[in-house]
Amino acid sequence: MEKSRSTEAILPMTSVKSGSGVEVAPDVYCYTNQIVNLFFIGNPNVSSDYILVDAGMPRSADKILQEAENRFGPDHNLKAIILTHGHFDHVGSIIDILEKYPVPVYAHPLEFSYLKGITNYPQPDSSVEGGLVAKISKAFPAEAIDISAHLKELPADGSVPGMPGWQWIHTPGHSEGHVSLFRKAGKLLIAGDAFVTVKQDSLYKVLTQKKEVCGPPVYLTTDWRAAWESVVKLTDLQPAIAVTGHGKPIYGSALAEGLVDLAKNFQKKAVPSHGKFVDR
Ligand SMILES: [Zn+2]
Ligand SMILES: [Zn+2]
Repeated sequence: MEKSRSTEAILPMTSVKSGSGVEVAPDVYCYTNQIVNLFFIGNPNVSSDYILVDAGMPRSADKILQEAENRFGPDHNLKAIILTHGHFDHVGSIIDILEKYPVPVYAHPLEFSYLKGITNYPQPDSSVEGGLVAKISKAFPAEAIDISAHLKELPADGSVPGMPGWQWIHTPGHSEGHVSLFRKAGKLLIAGDAFVTVKQDSLYKVLTQKKEVCGPPVYLTTDWRAAWESVVKLTDLQPAIAVTGHGKPIYGSALAEGLVDLAKNFQKKAVPSHGKFVDR
């Protein structure tokens, strides 16, 4: 991902929370890598085995694996990677991680063409309304990666490999094959970018990670109707805790009320007033 080298120079890639993590359940650890979150699933008091949900920013493999060692010890044992979707900030370090740990990678088949090097992502919509990050998003790498040798479809029965008790839910809109992960016990939701808790289009909020329930990041969301339906689907689950691709974990009434409000006022709160993916 040579392209991203120049990206880093101009993007506010490091948020205040960078390089730290928060445990939202004994077996769910949310690690912030620059501007994106990834999740270590597994209880270090029980086993050094773990699952990674998403794979962070480009050139962060050493940091991610160091975090794995900090949490699971020197014998930390990655079993699989689950992808919420394939945008560059969620697969950035996956090739480097797979070189050291050649594990299966599970994703929704609708995301496969981006993960097999067949289709590049749509060029991010830098004309979309929404401030500085949207304006500079044309510098985001959109080139597909090829991890065909590792790629497997998420099981059709909704189960999540290596994550007993969890189910995957198809939540398209931000990308075609976007999925969220939900565990009934504790009503814990990993929402990916179906919604996020920091408004990505505001530089100030990216830097301070002010927490609120927001629509998916605007600059790559290609189908706003599907994105809305996905938010409604996740609202109906009535999650007690949610972790998202960007921003801090959110829970309780801030989550419940925030989701209901976003679902009700999606057009006003999430959909940009103009942009090439709007009204398609
Ligand atoms: Zn995304
Ligand atoms: Zn993202």
